[in-house]
Amino acid sequence: MIRTHYSNQITPEMNANTVTVCGWAHEIRDLGGIMFLVVRDREGLIQVTLFKKAIDKNVLEIVKGISRESVVCVTGTVKKEAKAPNGYELVPTAVTVLGKAESPLPMDTTGKVDADLDTRLDVRFMDMRRLRTTSIFRLRNLLLKSIREYLDREGFVEITTPKVVATATEGGTALFPITYFEREAFLNQSPQLFKQLMMSGGLDRVYEIGPIFRAEEHDTRKHLNEATSIDIEASFLDNEDVMVILENLVNYVYKYIAENGQIYLKNLGVEIKIPQLPFKRLTYTEAIKIAKDNGEQIEWGDDLSTESEHSIGKTIGEHYFITDWPSRIKPFYALPYEDRPELCRAFDMMHPRMELSSGAQRVHDPELLRERITAQGLNADGFDFYLKAFKYGMPPHSGWGVGAERLLMTMLGIENIREVVLFPRDRRRLSP
Ligand code: ATP
Ligand code: MG
Repeated sequence: MIRTHYSNQITPEMNANTVTVCGWAHEIRDLGGIMFLVVRDREGLIQVTLFKKAIDKNVLEIVKGISRESVVCVTGTVKKEAKAPNGYELVPTAVTVLGKAESPLPMDTTGKVDADLDTRLDVRFMDMRRLRTTSIFRLRNLLLKSIREYLDREGFVEITTPKVVATATEGGTALFPITYFEREAFLNQSPQLFKQLMMSGGLDRVYEIGPIFRAEEHDTRKHLNEATSIDIEASFLDNEDVMVILENLVNYVYKYIAENGQIYLKNLGVEIKIPQLPFKRLTYTEAIKIAKDNGEQIEWGDDLSTESEHSIGKTIGEHYFITDWPSRIKPFYALPYEDRPELCRAFDMMHPRMELSSGAQRVHDPELLRERITAQGLNADGFDFYLKAFKYGMPPHSGWGVGAERLLMTMLGIENIREVVLFPRDRRRLSP
Protein backbone atom coordinates (compact mmCIF):
# COMPACT_ATOMS: atom_id res chain seq x y z
CA MET A 1 0.00 0.00 0.00
CA ILE A 2 3.00 2.29 -0.06
CA ARG A 3 2.41 5.01 -2.62
CA THR A 4 5.55 5.98 -4.45
CA HIS A 5 4.23 8.78 -6.69
CA TYR A 6 1.41 11.20 -7.35
CA SER A 7 0.16 11.05 -10.93
CA ASN A 8 2.01 14.24 -11.90
CA GLN A 9 5.33 12.96 -10.57
CA ILE A 10 5.48 10.19 -13.17
CA THR A 11 6.87 11.06 -16.60
CA PRO A 12 7.23 9.14 -19.88
CA GLU A 13 10.98 9.16 -19.27
CA MET A 14 10.39 6.78 -16.36
CA ASN A 15 9.54 4.09 -18.92
CA ALA A 16 10.01 0.54 -17.49
CA ASN A 17 10.20 1.75 -13.87
CA THR A 18 7.90 0.25 -11.25
CA VAL A 19 5.65 2.66 -9.33
CA THR A 20 2.69 2.50 -6.96
CA VAL A 21 -0.13 5.03 -7.24
CA CYS A 22 -3.24 5.36 -5.09
CA GLY A 23 -6.52 7.10 -5.76
CA TRP A 24 -10.10 6.68 -6.91
CA ALA A 25 -11.41 4.56 -9.79
CA HIS A 26 -12.44 7.42 -12.08
CA GLU A 27 -13.46 5.32 -15.04
CA ILE A 28 -13.41 1.65 -16.02
CA ARG A 29 -13.70 0.70 -19.68
CA ASP A 30 -13.74 -2.85 -21.01
CA LEU A 31 -13.04 -2.91 -24.75
CA GLY A 32 -12.82 -6.67 -25.16
CA GLY A 33 -9.15 -7.50 -25.60
CA ILE A 34 -8.05 -4.50 -23.60
CA MET A 35 -9.32 -2.89 -20.44
CA PHE A 36 -8.66 0.58 -19.01
CA LEU A 37 -8.83 1.62 -15.40
CA VAL A 38 -8.39 5.37 -14.98
CA VAL A 39 -7.19 6.21 -11.48
CA ARG A 40 -7.59 9.76 -10.20
CA ASP A 41 -5.46 11.18 -7.43
CA ARG A 42 -5.17 14.73 -6.10
CA GLU A 43 -2.96 15.80 -8.96
CA GLY A 44 -4.64 14.21 -11.96
CA LEU A 45 -5.42 11.04 -13.89
CA ILE A 46 -3.41 7.87 -14.49
CA GLN A 47 -4.33 5.41 -17.19
CA VAL A 48 -3.88 1.77 -16.16
CA THR A 49 -3.97 -0.51 -19.19
CA LEU A 50 -4.68 -4.23 -18.99
CA PHE A 51 -3.88 -6.31 -22.09
CA LYS A 52 -6.09 -9.26 -21.30
CA LYS A 53 -3.91 -11.85 -22.98
CA ALA A 54 -0.78 -10.80 -21.15
CA ILE A 55 -2.18 -9.87 -17.76
CA ASP A 56 -2.17 -11.96 -14.59
CA LYS A 57 -5.65 -13.50 -14.23
CA ASN A 58 -5.98 -12.46 -10.55
CA VAL A 59 -5.23 -8.82 -11.37
CA LEU A 60 -7.79 -8.89 -14.17
CA GLU A 61 -10.47 -10.35 -11.86
CA ILE A 62 -9.81 -7.68 -9.23
CA VAL A 63 -10.06 -4.85 -11.78
CA LYS A 64 -13.27 -6.31 -13.23
CA GLY A 65 -14.81 -6.16 -9.76
CA ILE A 66 -13.94 -2.51 -9.05
CA SER A 67 -16.90 -0.15 -8.80
CA ARG A 68 -16.50 3.49 -9.88
CA GLU A 69 -15.05 5.80 -7.20
CA SER A 70 -13.67 2.95 -5.10
CA VAL A 71 -10.26 3.65 -3.58
CA VAL A 72 -7.51 1.60 -5.20
CA CYS A 73 -3.74 1.23 -5.21
CA VAL A 74 -2.00 0.08 -8.34
CA THR A 75 1.57 -1.14 -8.66
CA GLY A 76 2.77 -1.36 -12.21
CA THR A 77 5.33 -0.67 -14.87
CA VAL A 78 5.45 2.74 -16.51
CA LYS A 79 5.00 2.56 -20.25
CA LYS A 80 5.50 5.53 -22.51
CA GLU A 81 2.20 6.14 -24.34
CA ALA A 82 1.61 9.37 -26.21
CA LYS A 83 -2.17 8.96 -26.24
CA ALA A 84 -2.57 8.59 -22.44
CA PRO A 85 -2.89 11.51 -19.99
CA ASN A 86 0.62 12.88 -19.19
CA GLY A 87 2.11 10.66 -21.93
CA TYR A 88 2.35 7.41 -19.97
CA GLU A 89 0.26 4.46 -18.89
CA LEU A 90 0.72 1.83 -16.20
CA VAL A 91 0.79 -1.91 -16.88
CA PRO A 92 -0.31 -3.31 -13.53
CA THR A 93 1.32 -6.11 -11.59
CA ALA A 94 -0.81 -5.71 -8.47
CA VAL A 95 -4.10 -3.96 -7.74
CA THR A 96 -5.76 -3.62 -4.32
CA VAL A 97 -9.12 -2.17 -3.40
CA LEU A 98 -8.86 -0.24 -0.13
CA GLY A 99 -12.29 1.35 0.05
CA LYS A 100 -15.22 0.08 -1.94
CA ALA A 101 -17.71 2.63 -3.32
CA GLU A 102 -21.41 1.76 -3.41
CA SER A 103 -23.41 2.37 -6.53
CA PRO A 104 -25.24 4.28 -7.73
CA LEU A 105 -23.10 7.29 -6.81
CA PRO A 106 -24.82 10.35 -5.30
CA MET A 107 -23.43 12.48 -8.13
CA ASP A 108 -21.24 12.27 -11.20
CA THR A 109 -17.57 13.08 -10.67
CA THR A 110 -16.31 13.07 -14.23
CA GLY A 111 -17.81 16.43 -15.17
CA LYS A 112 -19.95 14.78 -17.86
CA VAL A 113 -23.26 15.17 -16.01
CA ASP A 114 -24.03 18.50 -14.38
CA ALA A 115 -25.56 18.62 -10.91
CA ASP A 116 -27.14 21.72 -9.35
CA LEU A 117 -25.31 23.55 -6.59
CA ASP A 118 -27.59 22.33 -3.81
CA THR A 119 -27.05 18.68 -4.71
CA ARG A 120 -23.32 19.24 -4.91
CA LEU A 121 -23.20 20.98 -1.53
CA ASP A 122 -25.21 18.16 0.06
CA VAL A 123 -22.44 15.75 -0.94
CA ARG A 124 -19.54 18.17 -0.98
CA PHE A 125 -17.02 15.35 -0.33
CA MET A 126 -18.09 13.86 -3.65
CA ASP A 127 -18.25 17.23 -5.40
CA MET A 128 -14.61 17.78 -4.34
CA ARG A 129 -13.66 14.87 -6.56
CA ARG A 130 -14.57 16.92 -9.62
CA LEU A 131 -11.68 18.65 -11.31
CA ARG A 132 -13.47 21.98 -11.34
CA THR A 133 -14.30 22.02 -7.64
CA THR A 134 -10.95 20.81 -6.44
CA SER A 135 -9.23 23.43 -8.63
CA ILE A 136 -11.19 26.21 -6.91
CA PHE A 137 -9.99 25.07 -3.50
CA ARG A 138 -6.40 24.66 -4.62
CA LEU A 139 -6.63 28.29 -5.77
CA ARG A 140 -8.17 29.32 -2.46
CA ASN A 141 -5.16 27.74 -0.77
CA LEU A 142 -2.81 29.76 -2.98
CA LEU A 143 -4.77 32.93 -2.29
CA LEU A 144 -4.43 32.59 1.48
CA LYS A 145 -0.82 31.55 1.17
CA SER A 146 0.05 34.58 -0.95
CA ILE A 147 -1.72 36.93 1.46
CA ARG A 148 0.25 35.56 4.41
CA GLU A 149 3.45 35.84 2.40
CA TYR A 150 2.74 39.44 1.43
CA LEU A 151 1.70 40.63 4.87
CA ASP A 152 4.61 38.84 6.50
CA ARG A 153 7.00 40.69 4.19
CA GLU A 154 5.32 43.96 5.10
CA GLY A 155 6.05 43.30 8.76
CA PHE A 156 2.60 42.19 9.91
CA VAL A 157 2.20 39.84 12.87
CA GLU A 158 -0.52 37.18 12.55
CA ILE A 159 -2.93 37.08 15.47
CA THR A 160 -6.07 35.13 16.35
CA THR A 161 -8.86 36.73 18.36
CA PRO A 162 -11.95 35.26 20.04
CA LYS A 163 -15.04 34.43 18.05
CA VAL A 164 -17.21 34.14 21.16
CA VAL A 165 -17.82 37.63 22.51
CA ALA A 166 -20.00 39.50 24.98
CA THR A 167 -20.87 42.57 22.86
CA ALA A 168 -21.47 43.58 19.27
CA THR A 169 -18.53 45.04 17.37
CA GLU A 170 -20.76 47.74 15.99
CA GLY A 171 -24.44 48.46 15.78
CA GLY A 172 -26.57 47.53 12.83
CA THR A 173 -25.41 44.11 11.78
CA ALA A 174 -27.36 41.31 13.40
CA LEU A 175 -25.51 38.90 15.68
CA PHE A 176 -25.97 35.22 16.36
CA PRO A 177 -26.68 34.78 20.07
CA ILE A 178 -25.29 31.67 21.76
CA THR A 179 -25.46 30.22 25.25
CA TYR A 180 -22.23 30.65 27.17
CA PHE A 181 -22.72 28.78 30.45
CA GLU A 182 -25.31 30.87 32.32
CA ARG A 183 -24.81 33.94 30.13
CA GLU A 184 -25.77 35.04 26.67
CA ALA A 185 -22.88 35.59 24.27
CA PHE A 186 -22.52 36.17 20.52
CA LEU A 187 -20.52 34.95 17.57
CA ASN A 188 -18.24 37.79 16.56
CA GLN A 189 -19.08 39.73 13.41
CA SER A 190 -15.54 41.13 13.00
CA PRO A 191 -12.17 41.16 14.81
CA GLN A 192 -12.30 44.99 14.67
CA LEU A 193 -12.20 45.82 18.38
CA PHE A 194 -9.57 43.21 19.22
CA LYS A 195 -7.19 44.18 16.47
CA GLN A 196 -7.47 47.79 17.66
CA LEU A 197 -6.63 46.67 21.21
CA MET A 198 -3.40 45.27 19.78
CA MET A 199 -2.49 48.74 18.55
CA SER A 200 -2.56 49.93 22.16
CA GLY A 201 -0.67 46.73 22.95
CA GLY A 202 2.16 47.84 20.69
CA LEU A 203 2.19 45.06 18.09
CA ASP A 204 2.20 47.87 15.53
CA ARG A 205 1.02 45.84 12.51
CA VAL A 206 -1.30 42.86 12.90
CA TYR A 207 -3.42 40.70 10.66
CA GLU A 208 -5.94 37.96 11.13
CA ILE A 209 -7.51 35.53 8.68
CA GLY A 210 -10.54 34.07 10.37
CA PRO A 211 -14.29 33.56 10.42
CA ILE A 212 -16.82 36.37 10.79
CA PHE A 213 -20.48 35.71 11.54
CA ARG A 214 -23.34 37.84 10.25
CA ALA A 215 -26.91 36.98 11.20
CA GLU A 216 -28.29 38.88 8.21
CA GLU A 217 -31.21 37.21 6.51
CA HIS A 218 -30.05 38.03 3.02
CA ASP A 219 -30.14 35.36 0.39
CA THR A 220 -27.77 36.72 -2.22
CA ARG A 221 -24.91 35.37 -4.29
CA LYS A 222 -22.34 37.49 -2.43
CA HIS A 223 -23.35 37.02 1.23
CA LEU A 224 -22.65 34.17 3.63
CA ASN A 225 -23.64 33.96 7.26
CA GLU A 226 -20.16 32.69 8.04
CA ALA A 227 -17.42 34.21 5.91
CA THR A 228 -13.63 34.42 6.07
CA SER A 229 -12.23 37.85 6.67
CA ILE A 230 -8.70 39.03 6.05
CA ASP A 231 -8.20 41.88 8.50
CA ILE A 232 -5.27 44.19 9.10
CA GLU A 233 -4.63 47.00 11.57
CA ALA A 234 -1.51 49.17 11.58
CA SER A 235 -0.23 51.93 13.86
CA PHE A 236 1.21 55.26 12.70
CA LEU A 237 -0.40 54.83 9.27
CA ASP A 238 -3.30 56.87 7.91
CA ASN A 239 -6.18 55.86 5.64
CA GLU A 240 -4.20 56.53 2.46
CA ASP A 241 -1.26 54.42 3.74
CA VAL A 242 -3.41 51.33 4.32
CA MET A 243 -5.18 51.82 0.98
CA VAL A 244 -1.77 51.52 -0.67
CA ILE A 245 -1.11 48.31 1.29
CA LEU A 246 -4.48 46.98 0.15
CA GLU A 247 -4.08 47.70 -3.56
CA ASN A 248 -0.55 46.31 -3.50
CA LEU A 249 -1.83 43.18 -1.78
CA VAL A 250 -4.55 42.63 -4.39
CA ASN A 251 -2.06 43.14 -7.19
CA TYR A 252 0.37 40.72 -5.51
CA VAL A 253 -2.26 38.02 -4.99
CA TYR A 254 -3.38 38.18 -8.63
CA LYS A 255 0.21 37.96 -9.86
CA TYR A 256 1.01 35.11 -7.47
CA ILE A 257 -1.99 33.12 -8.64
CA ALA A 258 -1.37 33.83 -12.32
CA GLU A 259 2.12 32.45 -11.79
CA ASN A 260 1.56 29.58 -9.37
CA GLY A 261 -2.00 28.57 -10.13
CA GLN A 262 -1.74 28.05 -13.88
CA ILE A 263 -2.87 24.41 -13.83
CA TYR A 264 -5.96 25.19 -11.78
CA LEU A 265 -6.84 28.29 -13.79
CA LYS A 266 -6.63 26.19 -16.92
CA ASN A 267 -8.88 23.54 -15.39
CA LEU A 268 -11.44 26.29 -14.75
CA GLY A 269 -10.95 27.86 -18.17
CA VAL A 270 -10.11 31.16 -16.51
CA GLU A 271 -7.54 33.73 -17.52
CA ILE A 272 -7.08 36.35 -14.88
CA LYS A 273 -6.38 39.98 -15.62
CA ILE A 274 -3.96 41.55 -13.15
CA PRO A 275 -5.38 44.83 -11.79
CA GLN A 276 -3.09 47.74 -12.50
CA LEU A 277 -1.73 50.04 -9.81
CA PRO A 278 -2.71 52.47 -8.47
CA PHE A 279 -6.45 51.79 -8.23
CA LYS A 280 -8.70 54.66 -9.19
CA ARG A 281 -9.92 56.76 -6.25
CA LEU A 282 -13.40 58.29 -6.26
CA THR A 283 -14.86 60.26 -3.41
CA TYR A 284 -18.22 59.11 -2.12
CA THR A 285 -19.72 62.31 -3.55
CA GLU A 286 -18.30 61.56 -7.01
CA ALA A 287 -19.52 57.96 -6.78
CA ILE A 288 -23.07 59.08 -5.96
CA LYS A 289 -22.98 61.48 -8.89
CA ILE A 290 -21.99 58.67 -11.28
CA ALA A 291 -24.82 56.47 -9.98
CA LYS A 292 -27.33 59.32 -10.34
CA ASP A 293 -26.09 60.20 -13.83
CA ASN A 294 -26.60 56.52 -14.69
CA GLY A 295 -30.21 56.83 -13.59
CA GLU A 296 -29.99 55.14 -10.17
CA GLN A 297 -32.43 56.11 -7.41
CA ILE A 298 -29.92 57.24 -4.82
CA GLU A 299 -29.31 60.39 -2.76
CA TRP A 300 -26.21 61.79 -1.10
CA GLY A 301 -26.13 60.24 2.38
CA ASP A 302 -27.48 56.83 1.34
CA ASP A 303 -25.44 53.68 1.60
CA LEU A 304 -24.71 52.18 -1.82
CA SER A 305 -27.31 49.72 -3.01
CA THR A 306 -26.29 46.65 -4.99
CA GLU A 307 -27.71 48.34 -8.11
CA SER A 308 -25.63 51.48 -7.53
CA GLU A 309 -22.52 49.36 -6.93
CA HIS A 310 -23.11 47.62 -10.27
CA SER A 311 -23.81 50.85 -12.07
CA ILE A 312 -20.69 52.64 -10.77
CA GLY A 313 -18.66 49.46 -11.34
CA LYS A 314 -19.74 49.37 -14.96
CA THR A 315 -18.67 52.96 -15.49
CA ILE A 316 -15.26 52.48 -13.81
CA GLY A 317 -14.61 48.98 -15.16
CA GLU A 318 -11.76 47.99 -12.84
CA HIS A 319 -10.88 47.85 -9.13
CA TYR A 320 -11.36 51.22 -7.44
CA PHE A 321 -11.68 52.96 -4.07
CA ILE A 322 -14.55 55.04 -2.78
CA THR A 323 -13.23 57.49 -0.17
CA ASP A 324 -14.50 60.24 2.14
CA TRP A 325 -17.79 58.69 3.22
CA PRO A 326 -20.47 60.46 5.25
CA SER A 327 -19.62 59.76 8.92
CA ARG A 328 -23.23 58.89 9.60
CA ILE A 329 -23.22 55.73 7.46
CA LYS A 330 -19.83 54.43 8.58
CA PRO A 331 -19.08 52.76 11.94
CA PHE A 332 -18.24 54.83 15.03
CA TYR A 333 -14.55 53.93 14.84
CA ALA A 334 -14.04 55.68 11.46
CA LEU A 335 -12.22 58.98 12.02
CA PRO A 336 -14.12 62.13 10.93
CA TYR A 337 -12.12 64.80 9.11
CA GLU A 338 -11.23 67.52 11.57
CA ASP A 339 -12.31 70.39 9.30
CA ARG A 340 -15.50 68.72 7.97
CA PRO A 341 -16.66 66.14 10.52
CA GLU A 342 -19.69 65.15 8.43
CA LEU A 343 -17.17 63.18 6.31
CA CYS A 344 -14.76 60.55 7.58
CA ARG A 345 -11.49 58.90 6.60
CA ALA A 346 -13.24 55.69 5.58
CA PHE A 347 -12.93 53.90 2.25
CA ASP A 348 -14.37 50.94 0.43
CA MET A 349 -12.35 48.97 -2.11
CA MET A 350 -14.54 47.82 -4.95
CA HIS A 351 -14.46 45.26 -7.72
CA PRO A 352 -16.79 46.31 -10.58
CA ARG A 353 -19.16 43.56 -9.39
CA MET A 354 -19.20 44.23 -5.63
CA GLU A 355 -17.57 45.63 -2.51
CA LEU A 356 -14.42 43.74 -1.53
CA SER A 357 -13.24 45.68 1.48
CA SER A 358 -14.06 48.41 3.98
CA GLY A 359 -11.45 50.29 5.94
CA ALA A 360 -10.59 53.57 7.61
CA GLN A 361 -8.27 55.56 9.72
CA ARG A 362 -9.68 55.02 13.22
CA VAL A 363 -10.63 57.38 15.99
CA HIS A 364 -7.84 57.09 18.56
CA ASP A 365 -8.86 59.86 20.95
CA PRO A 366 -10.89 58.30 23.81
CA GLU A 367 -13.19 61.31 24.27
CA LEU A 368 -14.09 61.53 20.59
CA LEU A 369 -14.54 57.75 20.44
CA ARG A 370 -17.04 57.77 23.30
CA GLU A 371 -18.88 60.61 21.56
CA ARG A 372 -18.97 58.70 18.26
CA ILE A 373 -20.31 55.55 19.93
CA THR A 374 -23.16 57.53 21.49
CA ALA A 375 -23.82 59.47 18.30
CA GLN A 376 -24.31 56.16 16.46
CA GLY A 377 -27.03 55.26 18.97
CA LEU A 378 -24.95 52.70 20.89
CA ASN A 379 -24.44 52.40 24.63
CA ALA A 380 -20.82 53.23 25.52
CA ASP A 381 -21.04 51.13 28.70
CA GLY A 382 -20.86 47.95 26.64
CA PHE A 383 -17.53 49.12 25.24
CA ASP A 384 -15.65 49.58 28.52
CA PHE A 385 -13.06 46.91 27.77
CA TYR A 386 -12.39 48.63 24.45
CA LEU A 387 -12.43 52.28 25.55
CA LYS A 388 -10.00 51.50 28.37
CA ALA A 389 -7.28 50.73 25.84
CA PHE A 390 -7.56 54.25 24.41
CA LYS A 391 -6.93 55.96 27.74
CA TYR A 392 -3.39 54.77 28.35
CA GLY A 393 -1.54 55.64 25.18
CA MET A 394 -3.18 54.66 21.90
CA PRO A 395 -1.28 55.49 18.70
CA PRO A 396 -3.10 56.71 15.57
CA HIS A 397 -3.93 53.69 13.46
CA SER A 398 -5.79 52.45 10.40
CA GLY A 399 -6.92 49.16 8.92
CA TRP A 400 -9.29 47.25 6.69
CA GLY A 401 -11.05 43.92 6.21
CA VAL A 402 -11.35 42.00 2.95
CA GLY A 403 -13.70 39.07 2.41
CA ALA A 404 -11.58 36.14 1.23
CA GLU A 405 -14.51 34.62 -0.67
CA ARG A 406 -15.33 37.82 -2.52
CA LEU A 407 -11.71 38.33 -3.48
CA LEU A 408 -11.53 34.80 -4.88
CA MET A 409 -14.91 34.73 -6.63
CA THR A 410 -14.33 38.05 -8.40
CA MET A 411 -10.83 36.98 -9.42
CA LEU A 412 -12.16 33.77 -10.95
CA GLY A 413 -15.37 35.21 -12.37
CA ILE A 414 -17.47 32.85 -10.22
CA GLU A 415 -21.11 33.88 -9.85
CA ASN A 416 -22.12 32.36 -6.53
CA ILE A 417 -20.07 32.83 -3.35
CA ARG A 418 -21.08 29.34 -2.16
CA GLU A 419 -18.85 27.85 -4.86
CA VAL A 420 -15.72 29.09 -3.09
CA VAL A 421 -16.52 27.86 0.46
CA LEU A 422 -16.19 24.20 1.38
CA PHE A 423 -19.26 24.10 3.59
CA PRO A 424 -21.24 27.33 3.19
CA ARG A 425 -23.48 28.63 5.93
CA ASP A 426 -26.46 30.55 4.62
CA ARG A 427 -30.07 31.20 5.59
CA ARG A 428 -31.07 27.61 4.76
CA ARG A 429 -27.91 25.60 5.02
CA LEU A 430 -26.42 24.41 8.30
CA SER A 431 -25.28 20.94 7.24
CA PRO A 432 -22.94 19.48 6.17
P1 ATP B 1 -22.02 44.44 2.19
O1 ATP B 1 -22.47 45.87 2.27
O2 ATP B 1 -21.58 44.05 0.82
O3 ATP B 1 -22.99 43.49 2.81
P2 ATP B 1 -20.51 45.11 4.51
O4 ATP B 1 -20.19 46.55 4.25
O5 ATP B 1 -21.62 44.77 5.42
O6 ATP B 1 -20.69 44.34 3.10
P3 ATP B 1 -18.11 44.96 6.06
O7 ATP B 1 -18.69 44.92 7.43
O8 ATP B 1 -17.60 46.24 5.56
O9 ATP B 1 -19.18 44.38 5.04
O10 ATP B 1 -17.01 43.80 5.99
C1 ATP B 1 -15.78 43.93 5.28
C2 ATP B 1 -15.70 42.94 4.13
O11 ATP B 1 -15.98 41.62 4.58
C3 ATP B 1 -16.72 43.18 3.03
O12 ATP B 1 -16.27 44.17 2.13
C4 ATP B 1 -16.82 41.82 2.39
O13 ATP B 1 -15.75 41.58 1.50
C5 ATP B 1 -16.67 40.89 3.58
N1 ATP B 1 -18.00 40.50 4.07
C6 ATP B 1 -18.75 41.15 4.98
N2 ATP B 1 -19.91 40.53 5.18
C7 ATP B 1 -19.91 39.44 4.40
C8 ATP B 1 -20.84 38.39 4.18
N3 ATP B 1 -22.01 38.34 4.82
N4 ATP B 1 -20.52 37.42 3.29
C9 ATP B 1 -19.33 37.46 2.64
N5 ATP B 1 -18.42 38.42 2.81
C10 ATP B 1 -18.69 39.42 3.68
MG1 MG C 1 -18.42 47.50 4.13
